[in-house]
Amino acid sequence: MWFRNVLRLHDNPLLNKTCSSEKIESLVPLYIMEDEWFNLDSITISANRKKFLYESLLNFNKNFRIKYGVDILIFHGNSSKIINSITENLDNEFKWLLCDYCPEPDKRHTINKIKENLVNLEINLKVIPAVNTILDVEKVIQSNNFSNPKSSKDIEKIFAEKYEHSPHGYIIGDSLLPPSNLNIDKKKMEVLIHESTISEFYISEDILKNKLMELESKSKITDSYFVGGEDEALERFERKISQSPNFVNSFSKPSTISTNKDDNPLEPTTTGLSPYLSNGCISARMLWNECLKINFNSTHTLPPESLHGQLMFREMFYLLSRSVVNWDNDIENSNCKPIQWGEYDELKIKAWESGLTGFPYIDAMMRQLDATGWMHHLGRHAVSCFFTRGQLWQNWKYGRNVFEKKLIDSDWALNNGNWLWLAGVAPFSMPYYRIYNPCPDSKSSLNVETTNANFIRHWIPELSHFPSKYIFEPHLAPSTIQHDSKCVIGKDYPFPIVDRKQTRKRNLSLFKESNKQLSN
Ligand code: FAD
Ligand code: MG
Repeated sequence: MWFRNVLRLHDNPLLNKTCSSEKIESLVPLYIMEDEWFNLDSITISANRKKFLYESLLNFNKNFRIKYGVDILIFHGNSSKIINSITENLDNEFKWLLCDYCPEPDKRHTINKIKENLVNLEINLKVIPAVNTILDVEKVIQSNNFSNPKSSKDIEKIFAEKYEHSPHGYIIGDSLLPPSNLNIDKKKMEVLIHESTISEFYISEDILKNKLMELESKSKITDSYFVGGEDEALERFERKISQSPNFVNSFSKPSTISTNKDDNPLEPTTTGLSPYLSNGCISARMLWNECLKINFNSTHTLPPESLHGQLMFREMFYLLSRSVVNWDNDIENSNCKPIQWGEYDELKIKAWESGLTGFPYIDAMMRQLDATGWMHHLGRHAVSCFFTRGQLWQNWKYGRNVFEKKLIDSDWALNNGNWLWLAGVAPFSMPYYRIYNPCPDSKSSLNVETTNANFIRHWIPELSHFPSKYIFEPHLAPSTIQHDSKCVIGKDYPFPIVDRKQTRKRNLSLFKESNKQLSN
């Protein structure tokens, strides 16, 4: 029983399907951590992402042990090799490999390779669908009448074909309770822990705990805020969903505040459940069902603005990520117009990534991303629009890479889908000429708290004494004000790296021109 992207006991179809199968006599629970996750020096994954995964895994292991009396077998390394080694060590007693479905191309590739090997050994592989999505992705995209969804209406249609509709949302079926017991084969687990050909890849709970401590001291994660794991996920779920019916019933994504809670610059005004959904610590089905229950017999918002609407966007991007070839690329991707972006500009990209563009709203968002691994959806809109068609005219893929590395909710399907959306290049994109002002005022659709501007003051301490009136565009403040506020622009905080109005105008015409050439 191989847990890949599911780190929870509740509503875990892999757990329930495995234990209800009559063909399976005894079980070995397994997790494999790829080396780029295990290696503290790997640079493609941020310390925050690693921390979140280690915490999630430790918590899952603890809950698993409390419930079933054993630890999960955790190894690090290449999963094909680890599985191979297990087949060698367990001889004829290894008959089935069960795991959760993961749609990413590299993960599907891995599974196909493993399958080839197992077939020769007469070992069955079963991939359990819809563990981290509501829909069975493979089944939906292979159905005869499937075509790529482009809008919330299209994804509604897919739901409508599959599920019964009630006035409060689609009835998607119950979430699962964890099985009360599992028949685990401790002897086989012992063999694998001690067998020399595989024991060097074994990660005990203590090794993982030490690894987490080493990570924390090495990378100075001070502000990370979100703690990984099912317990944290369920606590947040209780607090923000189950105990907050008004929040759920009135949830309207476009009006949520991008600068977080007034009394806490780290707490999202949305659910903040994305890191837990992406890492498999909470079930999307359970979240859907709880919203349905709360919506029942109440006045409530509807998709696409509602929480059900958010989860439907998630499903839509999962389907597209599987059906659109080259989903993560800007060439030979049917959902991406090949716009002639500017040449890779290291200085601009570095300034953007490190929160030193001279645009405080953009910089505060990017510093929050760096420190915590999270950013509000409208903040993501603003910084990705700024990076692409708004001001910097850079290829969305470079910005996508930074998000992929740093977001603790980093998710291949969703990150690429949303960058395509914001870059203005996809069939589902917002109109390319709707460009956000990176210096928002109180009326901006980015929903920014501008009176006290506490979010800016928190993330950009250089500007903490600046009057709110100038804080979103500080270089326009008279020099006496800059001096009195102890922040001289150009010295203590940068001048804007581009002229926002000129670049906006130029980029709009470049986009229009690119569009014209493409339609010729
Ligand atoms: P809520 O508003 O509380 O929504 C509940 C859940 O619905 C989220 O947790 C998420 O799973 C799902 N959801 C919400 N909005 C979207 C959306 N636009 N697309 C798909 N699913 C959505 N989200 C990720 O989970 N991983 C990513 O890597 C990611 N990259 C993004 C990149 C860009 C450029 C943009 C603009 C958005 C990206 N998003 C990504 C989508 C969205 O910003 C986050 O899911 C959301 O902000 C997470 O906060 P929340 O859990 O409080 O969301
Ligand atoms: Mg993952």
